[in-house]
Amino acid sequence: MPTEVVDVIRGAPNKLYIEGEFRDASGGESFGTFNPATEELITEVSSAGVEDVNVAVTGARRAFESGDWREMSARERGRILWRIGELLRDNVEEVAILETIDNGKPIFESRYVDIPMVSEVFQYYAGWADKLHGEVVPVSGKALDYTLREPLGVIAAIVPWNFPLLLASWKIAPALAMGNTVIVKPASNTPLTALKLAELAGEAGLPPGVLNIVPGRGSVVGNALVEHPDVAKIAFTGETATGQGILRKSADTLKKITLELGGKSPNLVFADADLKAAAAGAAMGIFYGKGEVCAAGSRLFVAKSVAEEFIERVVERAEKMVPGDPMDPKTRMGALVSKNQLETVLGYVEAGKTEGARLRTGGVHAPIDGKGYFLRPAVFDKVDNNMTIAQEEIFGPVLAAIVFEDEEHAITQANDNPYGLAAAVWTRDVGRAHRVASKLKAGTVWVNTYNRYDAAAPFGGYKESGYGRELGMHALEHYTQVKNVWVDLS
Ligand code: NDP
Repeated sequence: MPTEVVDVIRGAPNKLYIEGEFRDASGGESFGTFNPATEELITEVSSAGVEDVNVAVTGARRAFESGDWREMSARERGRILWRIGELLRDNVEEVAILETIDNGKPIFESRYVDIPMVSEVFQYYAGWADKLHGEVVPVSGKALDYTLREPLGVIAAIVPWNFPLLLASWKIAPALAMGNTVIVKPASNTPLTALKLAELAGEAGLPPGVLNIVPGRGSVVGNALVEHPDVAKIAFTGETATGQGILRKSADTLKKITLELGGKSPNLVFADADLKAAAAGAAMGIFYGKGEVCAAGSRLFVAKSVAEEFIERVVERAEKMVPGDPMDPKTRMGALVSKNQLETVLGYVEAGKTEGARLRTGGVHAPIDGKGYFLRPAVFDKVDNNMTIAQEEIFGPVLAAIVFEDEEHAITQANDNPYGLAAAVWTRDVGRAHRVASKLKAGTVWVNTYNRYDAAAPFGGYKESGYGRELGMHALEHYTQVKNVWVDLS
């Protein structure tokens, strides 16, 4: 292991972070977190139990009620969030290394995309801290009526492993900006960067108890957070089935819930598109982040007249994306997050073949020196939209190419799926671009581009891809409640 990685691991926090200190789990339990590229143990991480969750919730509630954060001047809260963003930039190398060794994503992505965007998310919401306010309502009669925007209380953020720190920041930053306190339950595959963030947040001056991190099993820690009566809201990203379970259970305590769930996003390429740019976009749309991206463009719909030429271009690009050491700055295809995920994806490759699709390239395990959950990016053509590989989320670098006859056929097939997270359309016809964008049932539509994100642009799902929006001003709605105040003036 390179010495810089050894040093980063040695310095990385690996205990629960509750009320401003790192501490062991009360039961003394821990779990191993592994490097998917080498299959080696990175470190043991304290594993919270129900008792630890109770302590964290009590601490977060105390921090909320004390007013140290909620009643701090909003501008000062913003300054602390801004400082967290600065510290993330100052420590980008260390945080990026942790993300890459824990998740298997190329260091290129962690260093230049994930962690810089985490920093931007904190700084974007730093700016909102003192800008969301109530309004005076013109009611009838002799009365003054106004609204206040108040925080909810303790927010539990339950996050997955594919963008471990980024998806956590989408929840933590708006929640803190609005004066809430937060408990994060990172995914068991990737707990390290959330703990590092806690350290940086303490350094930035965040008061104790305002941000807490409780790694541990989803069925224990996640579940305890969902059941706890003092947790006001759950912000969840993960599998649809897990989200459905959380929603059912949350009914008992009537929690507010936002859910960012799965996707099976269609990428529509019309014959009049810039085919070179569209092929690059289609390949990046499915292969970026190893395809372990909720918004991955996993269904490629291509106009019949250009299908053969276009799919060939995408195949060529897939073949150039040879899986490599994630720590090598030139690598663009890392290792899938776990053996379990590799097996799931290989299972879908088999299903595609069995159901009659044609595997044009990839889809095979490609270990390096006998190790690692690497997979050669796969492209299937001759896919029917009803096949398993076109309907179910694979969450890996597997593309299903489907041909369409005309615009209506493209839209009908694109919408014929339970998910509705994202979609894209590639065309030079401006009328068609807007027409198709309006008809696609998806929370985000990209035109002549893919996988574009910004802290200011709202993101979230239609249909079974979830409830609510993250990022932008829209997220703030989910971390505040409106109080209406009447004052008699007679
Ligand atoms: P999971 O739903 O398995 O896990 C997500 C989080 O929930 C993890 O922290 C997990 O903990 C926790 N969890 C597991 N069981 C429970 C439970 N019973 N109660 C409460 N929490 C629980 O998803 P993955 O981590 O496997 O992530 C991949 C999925 O996430 C994909 O399906 C993908 O589409 C979706 N996703 C959606 C995104 C979106 O924005 N819409 C973005 C990214 C991913 P533990 O790790 O300990 O099991």
